Amino acid sequence: MSYVDEVYEKVVAKNAGEPEFHQAVKEFLETVRPVVEKHEEQYRKLALLERLCEPERQIRFRVPWVDDNGQVQVNTGYRVQFNSAIGPYKGGLRLHPSVYFGIIKFLGFEQIFKNSLTGLPIGGGKGGSDFDPKGKSDNEVMRFCQSFMTELYKHIGADTDVPAGDIGTGAREIGFMYGQYKRITGLYEGVLTGKGLTYGGSLARTEATGYGLLYFTEELLKINNIDIAGKTAVVSGSGNVAIYAIQKANQLGVKVLTCSDSTGWIYDPDGVDVTTLQLVKEQHRARLTEYKELRPNSVYHEGRADGGVWGVKADIALPCATQNELNLDDAKALVANGVIAVCEGANMPTTLDATEYLKEQGVIFGPAKAANAGGVATSALEMSQNSERLSWTFEEVDAKLKQIMINIVHNIDAAAKEYGKEGDYAAGANIAGFLKVADAMIAQGV
Ligand code: GLU
Repeated sequence: MSYVDEVYEKVVAKNAGEPEFHQAVKEFLETVRPVVEKHEEQYRKLALLERLCEPERQIRFRVPWVDDNGQVQVNTGYRVQFNSAIGPYKGGLRLHPSVYFGIIKFLGFEQIFKNSLTGLPIGGGKGGSDFDPKGKSDNEVMRFCQSFMTELYKHIGADTDVPAGDIGTGAREIGFMYGQYKRITGLYEGVLTGKGLTYGGSLARTEATGYGLLYFTEELLKINNIDIAGKTAVVSGSGNVAIYAIQKANQLGVKVLTCSDSTGWIYDPDGVDVTTLQLVKEQHRARLTEYKELRPNSVYHEGRADGGVWGVKADIALPCATQNELNLDDAKALVANGVIAVCEGANMPTTLDATEYLKEQGVIFGPAKAANAGGVATSALEMSQNSERLSWTFEEVDAKLKQIMINIVHNIDAAAKEYGKEGDYAAGANIAGFLKVADAMIAQGV
């Protein structure tokens, strides 16, 4: 049996009941096969792939908090410190009822290679809790965040592990957590990113993942001799990634026809209006039914009715909601409608069979690790600013972000070509991200 297949079997056996983690490992291992084959003897001897697939440390803890009725609630907190070969652990905190080790480990694993691709010195980690901020009062969210940090602070630090936002964790949650870290430790340090601008946050961090996704897509189309201006797009999601992806898409002359939330989706023939979307989602924390009320020309569909957003004809598809939201049927619908490119704003939004199908059909596929790396890259820029006790202008950060995304496109394209996989950007991303981490791991010994 090949080394890659052996390692995959071991990962499945050792991490039973964690299908999302298996999926992320499988996707990675399949695409780095040519590299592994080239170095098989050395990698085997060093157990390099086994070490890569085993988190350096994983922490699970109790998070008790008191709700507004005086009732004590108990959630579970997680932090997976996956790989620190190239820098301190870095990665977001997901607050969502679906969170368990399988989700955090898939995200932490992908974060290793994503962070490597940014070209900045950050290792891979991820954390979160099964707490659901939806429908909670600000005070309940604050008490949860304080309790969560009362344990997490023991394991993080500006030079060891720097968490940030992810689904369910935005500026409000980061603020409450930062306050608690400072209260307990007395340290005013860049231990979290995505902070508010008045206490060490970076300009353009809020916009970074969505903007980065569009800079990436623009460049990826460009190397395929396609101009992004004048194209149409379908977007899923309506959170931080989707909102700023839509905003940048508009600036680049792309008309976005859809967005979605956990309860339904919007088709807006006039193009999704970012100001309305921000009002509904960022200010009111409301459902998309409110968007429909404010934009009478738009159509609201309950759930995934009428094929969901992927059933709408467009040139570009940008899944910006969550994992496995774009399946084989969706991929077939997109191809039937003539889609040119699919670039992932969310983490692992496309199922393995859907990804395979899109690639076979010649659709330009931008994998999450590369396409959504702008968020964590700008987090690393926030860390730099915190270290030098300075803050850069919006234009400065945005220009750096854009250059990072352009570099990523060229690096993954070159890596794919070098290993005989021209045009397979998923392979290119995994290979380029992996080679740097592998080199650092080998250099640092066992
Ligand atoms: N959660 C984001 C991601 O998936 C950002 C992480 C960060 O900024 O550390 O990459």
